[in-house]
Amino acid sequence: MENKKENFSEWYNEIVEIAGLSDKRYPIKGMNVWLPYGLKAMQNIDRIIRQNVDPLDFQEVSFPVLITRDQLSVEFEHVKGFENEVYWVTRGGMEPLEVEMALRPTSEAAMYGMFSLWVRSHADLPLKIYQIVNVYRYETKHTRTFIRIREIHFFEAHTAHDSYEDAERQMAEYRTIWDRISSELCLPFLIDQRPDWDKFPGAKYTLAFDTVLPGGRSLQIGTIHQYGTNFSRNYDIKYLKDDGTHEYASQTTFGLSERLLAAVIAIHGDDQGLIFPPDVAPVQVVVVPIPSKRADVASYSDSIASLLRNAGIRVALDSRENYTPGFKYNEWEMKGVPLRIEIGDREAESRKITAVKRTSRKKYQLLEGELASSIKALLEEIKVEISKRADEHFSRLHRHYSSLEEMKGAEGLVLAGWCGSRECSDTIERTLEFGTLGFNRNQDSREKCVVCGREGSLGVFSRSY
Ligand code: ZN
Repeated sequence: MENKKENFSEWYNEIVEIAGLSDKRYPIKGMNVWLPYGLKAMQNIDRIIRQNVDPLDFQEVSFPVLITRDQLSVEFEHVKGFENEVYWVTRGGMEPLEVEMALRPTSEAAMYGMFSLWVRSHADLPLKIYQIVNVYRYETKHTRTFIRIREIHFFEAHTAHDSYEDAERQMAEYRTIWDRISSELCLPFLIDQRPDWDKFPGAKYTLAFDTVLPGGRSLQIGTIHQYGTNFSRNYDIKYLKDDGTHEYASQTTFGLSERLLAAVIAIHGDDQGLIFPPDVAPVQVVVVPIPSKRADVASYSDSIASLLRNAGIRVALDSRENYTPGFKYNEWEMKGVPLRIEIGDREAESRKITAVKRTSRKKYQLLEGELASSIKALLEEIKVEISKRADEHFSRLHRHYSSLEEMKGAEGLVLAGWCGSRECSDTIERTLEFGTLGFNRNQDSREKCVVCGREGSLGVFSRSY
């Protein structure tokens, strides 16, 4: 397969195809077919998301996919921000529709009319809901599987609060949730506040989680937005206060998508193929029997696979005939399975199991009696190894620069002093061909702008997807 370092883009396209994650031959550009293996990985990511939001009193809902033009037009900046990306449904059967309907590009317009019915008093707040659905954007740029597409697998959380302070607490909670999700996916990132001209349409401010892929381009893998009362004023979401007056709710949102899967594929994989973090892996352990005349390897392998399955581990038993063990090893390595178990004569007779890590290829001899706990411990180790490799990759591709001159030829996430002005951002974009991701919010440092020399803070710049 392609060399990942030299030809990242080709490597990515190839692995998505040969690992059976997605099929882009569907006749609509940017609308791809989720294949079983890819869908399982995405469902595992969804499960990780649910496990992290459910205990914090988020309730899962499911809203209709269609939004009328009237609903969408309620918030002016919002509709303006999406007008070039919306798919419109204009006919029902042969009849032209009286009111055109949009396929949701995001769900503010679908949800907030309902919020205004649901929110009556203090007792209804905070309101915290989420859904995992497909959203639709008419992308005109070059599409790329899981990264830039027209039908997007999307997680969106929406909240309403009785005060701006409580909405700010929600923003902090999102960051905690994100820390947990990203650590299970072993993904390093920066938190950047998008410039005003690039924030979510209708938001007061947008914080984005930016990572960087091996080709050196950044990828936005999550966003959280503070809306204040921008939407609630337009959609009339208000509650009755104790003194008899009404107050508009403050709102926030949190969005994630299949770009999480893209980042997992791109950052962790190597020249042999995918490497899945154990929590994401559709198959965590593959059992490969090595056929023999001496021992009943087949039934022993079967019993080992069931033992692990009963311990809650996701196991595949590869008992296909006509394939050599070596062929199977390569194939499962390519598919990124974290741990392989090899069972031949020796294992069946001694009841000691050979396990091999996908990350380091180190071999381990495990006692059958302690197998489940040993395997779980090895999976934990693998997760740590994957995180460590991802952090090394990240530290190679994000660096602090102190002058425009130094920034020439830089790649990855480029950090440098910036005053926050559009003019200086434009200069950087023009001379270096970097986009402006905004001010970094991992730290709060005072810096002099590398363009104009005025006081500023740490800006983040990159070529991005
Ligand atoms: Zn400046």
